[in-house]
Amino acid sequence: MRSASAFTTTLMALVICASLSGCGPRGRPQAVDRRATLIAVATIYPLYDWLRVLGGDEVEAHCLLRPGDSPHTYAPQPQDAQILGRAALLVMVGKGLEPWAEKLGTSVAGLRIIKLGEGIGALGDDEYERHEGDIDQRAGHDHPEGNPHVWLSPRLAIMMVERLAEALSKADPANADAYYSRSEAYIRELAALEDEMKARLALYRGRRVVTCHAAFDYLLDDVGLALQASIQPYPGKEPSARYLEALVTWMREHNVKTVFAEPQLSPKAANVIASEVGGKVVILDPLGDPADPGRDSYLKMMRYNTEQLAYGLGGE
Ligand SMILES: [Zn+2]
Repeated sequence: MRSASAFTTTLMALVICASLSGCGPRGRPQAVDRRATLIAVATIYPLYDWLRVLGGDEVEAHCLLRPGDSPHTYAPQPQDAQILGRAALLVMVGKGLEPWAEKLGTSVAGLRIIKLGEGIGALGDDEYERHEGDIDQRAGHDHPEGNPHVWLSPRLAIMMVERLAEALSKADPANADAYYSRSEAYIRELAALEDEMKARLALYRGRRVVTCHAAFDYLLDDVGLALQASIQPYPGKEPSARYLEALVTWMREHNVKTVFAEPQLSPKAANVIASEVGGKVVILDPLGDPADPGRDSYLKMMRYNTEQLAYGLGGE
């Protein structure tokens, strides 16, 4: 029989999860598995998905960002501190993506913080290939530790998942075998995903892509596409009129008609540019969405982005 205090703890966990609405579909409480031995919190949804995949029943996974939130503009909520207070592990990307999470996490005694992206991904914000006469988008980019969007490369995702398996095993050694064997199976899926993406986009190799912000540099690099410019030189901030004008001129000169926008950032500028060049806006999703069955896991989100790229480039 379970004691009254254990019951109260479980009830409290349910209440906290319900108020979080966290990574579960909006408004629905996340299921709390009574067998879970480790409570782990991810900053963004793709990392939460990896926690679920690797953690299985042994990990109670939570996510700080809710659908529609961007890590670039996120302001922590009181419930974020609450959930971190119960957790053993905080899983971040690092590389300057979520400084707010690190600040929050370091204030919690005994919480392990793991940054899966630290030290991997060699792209700076200005290191992708540029050509003479291209838009210079270095100005104002504010990712001092290099481009932090490493999770959007399946190749780098494999390294991140390996690190996650190691972190879970250190935090919960009794279940290390389970974490490692799940990560091995999942890494095979990630490797297959990379092959699939390269094959699907091979037709468009060398094509130049205009995105909302610099989220997809690593992904485009992996599949042989070249990032041309981002609409938002500062992620989450609207660009200047002068910058947009230069971008529109460049797109007209090079007959680039598709603007890739993102669900978490304002589509205003993308819409204006697309109508200026007589083109279209196509969505790429760097974070996924638990409420959308087409993007509710990392693998599905990446396949969605692959199809969106093919669609956006195919019509030009
Ligand atoms: Zn970003």
